[in-house]
Amino acid sequence: MRTKQFKAESKKLLDMMINSIYTHKEIFLRELISNASDAIDKLYYHSLSDGASGLNRSDFKIRISVDKDGRILKISDNGCGMTKDELESNLGTIAKSGSLEFKKDNDKKEDVDIIGQFGVGFYSAFMVSDAVTVESRAYGQSEAYRWFSKGADGYTVEPCEKEDCGTDIVLHIKESTEDEDYDTFLEQYTIKHLVKKYSDYIRYPIIMDCETRKLKEGSEDEYETVTETQTLNSMVPIWKKNKNEVTEDEYISFYREKYMDYEKPARVIHTKVEGQATYSALIYIPKQAPFDYYTREYEKGLQLYSSGVMIMEKCPDLLPDYFSFAKGLVDSEDLSLNISREMLQHDRQLKIIAKSLEKKIKSELLKLMTEDRETYEEFYRAFGMQLKFGVYDRYGVDKDKVKDLIMFVSSNEKKLVTIPEYISRMKEGQDKIFYACGETADKIEMLPQTELVRDKGYEILYFTENVDEFAVQTMGEYDGKHFVNICADDLDLDTEEEKEQLKEKNDSGKDMLAKMKEAIGDSVQSVRFTNKLKNHPVCLTSEGAVSVEMEKVLDSIPTQNKVKAKIVLEINANHPIADKLLSMYASDENSVGDYAKILYAQARLIEGMPLDNPTEISNLVCDLMVGSAH
Ligand code: ADP
Repeated sequence: MRTKQFKAESKKLLDMMINSIYTHKEIFLRELISNASDAIDKLYYHSLSDGASGLNRSDFKIRISVDKDGRILKISDNGCGMTKDELESNLGTIAKSGSLEFKKDNDKKEDVDIIGQFGVGFYSAFMVSDAVTVESRAYGQSEAYRWFSKGADGYTVEPCEKEDCGTDIVLHIKESTEDEDYDTFLEQYTIKHLVKKYSDYIRYPIIMDCETRKLKEGSEDEYETVTETQTLNSMVPIWKKNKNEVTEDEYISFYREKYMDYEKPARVIHTKVEGQATYSALIYIPKQAPFDYYTREYEKGLQLYSSGVMIMEKCPDLLPDYFSFAKGLVDSEDLSLNISREMLQHDRQLKIIAKSLEKKIKSELLKLMTEDRETYEEFYRAFGMQLKFGVYDRYGVDKDKVKDLIMFVSSNEKKLVTIPEYISRMKEGQDKIFYACGETADKIEMLPQTELVRDKGYEILYFTENVDEFAVQTMGEYDGKHFVNICADDLDLDTEEEKEQLKEKNDSGKDMLAKMKEAIGDSVQSVRFTNKLKNHPVCLTSEGAVSVEMEKVLDSIPTQNKVKAKIVLEINANHPIADKLLSMYASDENSVGDYAKILYAQARLIEGMPLDNPTEISNLVCDLMVGSAH
């Protein structure tokens, strides 16, 4: 019998398989089972269309058998089988699957990548076998053929006996070595485990004769080993079922088992889409963040299945970063089992799926927000930061997709509110969204600037995370309402008369205010009277794009170039201190310098900012005490 050579490309791939150092050789079983399932599909659909074959769906099976002593693992199907020509062309040539196209240079690292993520079909059998026999009889043919190969040397094809149509793949499993345990592929429990792991949702039963120990009939303590045929796969995946066929408990236990969370999910999204892209998805929105969620180690992604066969454990391209918390899977017929990772990234179909999923997740989150506010808030406490990053990330390209999902605590009962909620209850005539920054809501509440604004009946959003102010600055406005930092900007809440009075006060006190600025030095831009305070004497305001809070955040980032806010010291025009300063200045121009320093220090302390000169301030205060005690 003449030994034939593999086509050049196939030989390359084969060499790669035989010499593979890849550690997850186990995927060969997934590949062979998928081929068997495809072969059955072909015959089954054929039988549906010609109707004459008299085959029932229940007749189709994939059988696995193990002969430990003979080191044989056999995978049999009663699918369409292959003719002699097909054996030659299908198993002698591998050109269809994109994997080789992708793998042009023999880079070991990439080997691992393709094998791991997508498998390489039939040839992966050579990762675990030193010889492979394929006996096949095509549907409607009377002859059967045996294909045999020990790998690189080529293959032979000869006639053989086979009773029914279909294919037997017979693997002669390699001997174990010091580094590699091949014996395990001859163990029933390994096979069971691998079928569950990779092929649980193959549509046809995968059966195996399993040895189990059972109580002997009639006996209470005597066991015997019996062989029974078991079906190893559960066949219909939960996501392929209709929603009304799956109970809440089933969804939850699937989630806990697969995605390792002991909490219930905040929301289950089960969807089947047909149209531009056809897919089913089962997505879970968790309630709590995994311990590594806000670290670089966290990997986002959904499991990717192609017609019930898992092809990728974590496909990152299915989720935008701002939804990186979502867990779950997508199953689509539109994706080929052997698509390479690189091609997948550019896959048009995958992009369409990702886009449609993103919309779905967003609308489900909005629904959760209205239907079950408490759960949404629980979810939001875990992942709100990520959503806010989504607004701000990449200069805000995605801000409109996320802006309705974010929330802030507000002065109104200190509860979380969304921006649309805030807007819906704005005071008449209010055209801005007020916010203030600080370490905690309580501390913000104590800021001098918030008092009067709240007193006038305005709601204030309290920003306590570093990202908050950056996020709203990226947004700029919502529905034409601008975000305004009440500590930084001109709120324009005064009446014309109040404005006029303030202007007069600032004009007449001009020289004194300049003197105060001079005493404090370059740390402030200027000193002025304000109407924005109620009981407090002073506060700090910033002018320009960088607020005092932002300066604090930027300051904590270790770089050489410190960004400074342009700070203004504001003095409550209606506080007794204002008149005191003016009268002191009138009697002695130099007397206001020390007061200026102390007032500035007070304002910094209230803002939670450090003092550059604590000793000087302490001495000044003490002098004042001693002076006034006299
Ligand atoms: P792929 O499945 O990606 O096409 P494979 O190398 O796994 O690549 O298989 C090559 C071809 O061999 C298949 O496309 C199919 O036509 C044929 N084949 C493989 N296994 C079987 C089988 N069990 N029954 C019938 N045909 C098969």
